[in-house]
Amino acid sequence: MSSPTPQLQDSLLGSALAAGIGAQAEKVLAGQRLSREDGLALYACDDIHLVGGLANFVRERMHGDKAFFNVNQHINYTNICNKLCRFCAFQRLPGQEDAYVMSPEEIGAKIREQLDEPVTEVHMVAGVYPKLSYEYYLDILRAAKDARPGIHIKAFTMVELMQIAVRAKKPLKEVLPELIEAGLGSCPGGGAEVFADRVHLEGYHLKNTGDEWIETARTVHEAGLKSNATMLHGHIETAEERVDHLDRLRRLQDETGGLQCYIPLSFHPENTEWTHLPGPTGLEELREIALGRLMLDNVPHIKAYWIMLGIPMAQLALSYGANDVDGTVVEERIYHDAGATTPQAVERAELLRWIRDAGRIPVERDTLYNVLWSEDAEAQASCSTDAEATTAS
Ligand code: SF4
Repeated sequence: MSSPTPQLQDSLLGSALAAGIGAQAEKVLAGQRLSREDGLALYACDDIHLVGGLANFVRERMHGDKAFFNVNQHINYTNICNKLCRFCAFQRLPGQEDAYVMSPEEIGAKIREQLDEPVTEVHMVAGVYPKLSYEYYLDILRAAKDARPGIHIKAFTMVELMQIAVRAKKPLKEVLPELIEAGLGSCPGGGAEVFADRVHLEGYHLKNTGDEWIETARTVHEAGLKSNATMLHGHIETAEERVDHLDRLRRLQDETGGLQCYIPLSFHPENTEWTHLPGPTGLEELREIALGRLMLDNVPHIKAYWIMLGIPMAQLALSYGANDVDGTVVEERIYHDAGATTPQAVERAELLRWIRDAGRIPVERDTLYNVLWSEDAEAQASCSTDAEATTAS
């Protein structure tokens, strides 16, 4: 793969003019921000490969051929949840046969199982179970840190944080320093769904609204924590609602700069209340990756989450705007309960193999995108002392 050239720009512009998205292509090539109307035009364009080509242009302008990954471990500490989201296959009610809550000791033991692996991040998300005490949340962070002191803990989606503040009986901005003290290093991006009130009412009315998600993320960023952001697409949402979602994320990022990465999440219908919906096709998944890259000009990274997309699609996505593939992921449950047939983990060597096979240069990162290792000389040179320290665990 090569860096963007003038010939490539001419070719993209010519194709875009023919496809009716010349104005949007001109803005993309000039590095100008796309409007909401531009986003709608790109959703309406029949030529997904052209839209993907424009996103790839931006991706290579920002990151060259680098494809980021990390060595991480997922822990879903409970599947009990009272939010009853209609698209969710993971939730269980208390007393159901396969409902579970992991104790802090069990979480520590899970992390110790991986001590021989060069894991730099533990990703902890779960359902909202009101019986869990505030102390429980502090304890699971401490247990993870005790098990592996050098680990970065990326934990708690916005709805979990709202619940933790309820249990703490104080505002989130007073809770966050205590979570940080216990070991919280950053927050994931899940649970944003689609911000539109119509989708919220139809699909997940017991959970936070879009406005509440944005407000919670703003509080997280103001506390000095980075987070990611997602959109769950491919169910009942419209193109207008997707553009609105992306625009609201972009405005949040203009304000706080706290978003590291955007991750489009594909709706998996199996075992949900929405089994009658077909879910997104592969090309629709690629379009979401591309639109994320094109609309979110202020978010540095776009992730192709291989657990959900599958490895072949994630490889393709690396040429449709994505520059990150998540990590090795040990024992993912949320998407597998919804029928994902991908493996639950992949070896580091295997990740490297398929990133290279996609024509990209693997760059191992930590959670905060410090470069830990790369075959790319420039990226390797940027490895910081801090980042090296992060790997010592
Ligand atoms: S998506 Fe999250 S909040 Fe909604 S029901 Fe599932 S676990 Fe609960």
